[in-house]
This record gives sequence, C-alpha cells and structure tokens, in this order.
Amino acid sequence: MLNVSEALEKLLNAFSPVEVEEVPLHKAVGRVLSASIASQLDLPLFSNSSMDGFAVIAEDVENAHPDKPVSLSVVEDIPAGSFPSKKLDRAQTARIMTGAPLPEGADAIVPVEDTDQFARYLHSETEFPTKVNINKNVQPGDYVRFKGEDVSNGDVVFEANTKLRPQDIGLLAMLGIANVSVFRRPRIVILSTGDELVPVEIPLQPGKIHDSNAYTLSALIARDGGDAIYLGIVPDKEESVREILETAAESRADLILSSAGVSVGAFDFVRTVVQQDGKLDFWRVNMRPGKPLAFGNFHNVPFIGLPGNPVSAFVGYEVFVRPAISRLAGLKNFTRNQIRATIRHEIHSDGRESFLRAVLEKQEDGSWSARLTGHQGSGNLLSLVQANALLIIPSGVKSLPSGSDVDAWLLN
Ligand code: AMP
Ligand code: MG
Repeated sequence: MLNVSEALEKLLNAFSPVEVEEVPLHKAVGRVLSASIASQLDLPLFSNSSMDGFAVIAEDVENAHPDKPVSLSVVEDIPAGSFPSKKLDRAQTARIMTGAPLPEGADAIVPVEDTDQFARYLHSETEFPTKVNINKNVQPGDYVRFKGEDVSNGDVVFEANTKLRPQDIGLLAMLGIANVSVFRRPRIVILSTGDELVPVEIPLQPGKIHDSNAYTLSALIARDGGDAIYLGIVPDKEESVREILETAAESRADLILSSAGVSVGAFDFVRTVVQQDGKLDFWRVNMRPGKPLAFGNFHNVPFIGLPGNPVSAFVGYEVFVRPAISRLAGLKNFTRNQIRATIRHEIHSDGRESFLRAVLEKQEDGSWSARLTGHQGSGNLLSLVQANALLIIPSGVKSLPSGSDVDAWLLN
C-alpha cells in the first residue's frame, strides 16, 4: 500500500494546466494568470496632490508661521480631472484638489488646513480666492505623489500563475488592462455511488440516506476555482457504473471524481469498472481516514475515487484533489495554511498517517493548543464541522503524549 506522499506524487504527475482564455476584468477574480503582466504606464500617471490645498514653491513659504503668515496670489483653480494651464512664478500659488495634477513650477502642497481658507472650506464656501495666507512651511515634495513613484512603465507587476485577488483586479484596472489571459476553470465531474443514496430534496425511505458528499465536494471545488458538474447518484450495479463513467468521460471533464464504491464491499463496482475499461494506478492509501481511495483514468480522463464516508471523502479531497485542481487551474505551487500546534491531551493512532479533526485555540504566548473534536469515526461529519483544523499524525506514530507538537492544516 502506498503512503500519502508516494500516492500524491503519482497522482499529480497526471495533471497539467488546462487551456488559456481571455476574460474581462470583472470576471477575473480567483482566476490564475497564464502570463506575466508588465505595466505600460507610470503610476501615478502624473505628479498630483495628495491633499486639498495650495500648490506652492516650497522656498516661498519656508518662513511661514501662524504668527507670520506668507501671502501668495492665487493664479488658478485646479480641480481633480482638470489640467493646469499656468506655470507658477515666485509668490504664486494655485488652489488644488486631491488627485489634481501638480502645476509646473510647484514642488509642494500646503494643505488647506494650514491656510486662512480652511474656515471657508468648513462652511462649504467654494468661491475662488485671489489671495491666500499660508500658516505653515512645507518641504519640497510634501503632499505630492510623483509620477511613476509606485510603478514605472515596463515594470512586471504580476508574475504568471498568480491567482488574482480583488486588490489585484483593482491594480489591473489602474493599469488600463481590460482583459486578462487566464487558465479556464477546470471542469470536475462528480458522481455519487450507492443504492442507499437519495437526493436531499427527496423524502427518506427506510434504509436510505441523503447524498451529502456531492454537496461537500461541489462546494470544495467551487472554493478551489473549479466548475463542478454533478452527474447524480449511481446505483450499485456494474452496468450503471460503467454507463455513468462513459458519460463522464465524454463530457470533456478534466477530472472524474466519484465517492464510495471503491472499497471491498460485495457491491463496490467502481474499482472493477475502472480497472476493466481504464487504468487503475492505486486503490488504497495508507492513511486514516480515507484508506479506500482510488486513482487512475477512465478513457484517458483522470479519475479519483474517494471513499464514501463523508469525513473520508473530505479528507481525501483535501489531501489529493485540492492539489490536483490547483495544478489544473495553473497555480505554480500549492501551499496550505499550516501551523504547528501543541496537543493538550494524549492522542492514539494506528500507525497510518492520520488526519484528525481538532479545534485550535491561540494561547496568550502566541502558541496554538489543539484538542480533538469528539469521536473520529469517518461517518461523523459533525466533528468535522466543529473542527477548525486537521492535525497530521505522521505514519508510524501510535501514540503522542499531551504537550507534543504536530502540524495542523487550517480549515477556516
Ligand atoms: P462505501 O464506500 O460505498 O462502502 O460507503 C461507505 C459509507 O459512506 C457508507 O456508510 C455509505 O452509506 C456512505 N456514503 C457513501 N456515499 C455517500 C454519499 N454520497 N453521501 C453520504 N454518505 C455516503
Ligand atoms: Mg456503497
């Protein structure tokens, strides 16, 4: 039986990034850039004021003080969106608003708060003053945002394989980039197998349960930037399993993801069918929960068969499917939110690499303490819901005393 890292390596080899498409900026959040982006502009685009105030020649006001104001003549009004028409000469100023271009000759801004115009502004008087008294000196460059100080024309602003966040989208808009080349969203076909399963909206008959895995998996796929295509519930019959896998393979899926039916039960046909009409690379992994986990391909489409138990399906997804989707989606490196935590009670394991549901709490000294959430049965989805982390107990470990440090994957 393969251990987790061997199985993951084998599995990831089967995945490479999907094709590229152009999308408008408003649809690009969460998408992964297929190429780097260099700016074709300077940011700021032009030197401008960071305050509402007066553009000055700093030397003119170097001795300005509330007791000894310096009077300047106001030659122009520069609201945001306009462009100055005059060059400042000595003892001249221009009234300027935040974001408006700095006039030629000026080298600093005096905020309106430091002038005799402030009281007028407070009363919303907008009339253009011909004279202004400056109450405070400024240094050259004060309150000026200089052209190109943030980004220079030609700077590479985004590397390829970057996942775009909302603030990234904003910067792209600033740069005047309306469309971006990104990897298309990976298409993941989901199917649930089992005669006991019924859709959530159908009333339960004796012996039946709701198909919850399809919901968990669809939500995980959406979170990870994929499109989930749910093909429904498949009865535990060899022919039905074959039929739905054929439909899945024909649907241009990047991955077929099933849950249940890959164990050693008398009616577990998924493995048999994949073995006959495709290729099975492995069907068990030395882990807990989630040992019956199959990987291969069906008609050359990668196939991952997750275990049926809801917590095992979730853990199998986190360990194997998430890195596979992130590779399909074009991300260069898949990294987890992971910290070290100190367990606050003894933990027993069975020697398999284990992924245990736990609550982490931050301590006053900044360290994290961890406690398991209830019983760790692989059908107990509640204890996963109550957890905010999975603790990783390495393979070969059978018990850990209270106070031991372990890796923890953050779930929230
Ligand atoms: P199996 O892998 O088919 O032996 O299923 C293992 C356990 O998972 C059984 O208790 C199933 O009823 C349960 N199970 C299988 N599929 C699902 C599903 N889609 N949603 C919830 N539970 C499931
Ligand atoms: Mg079953």
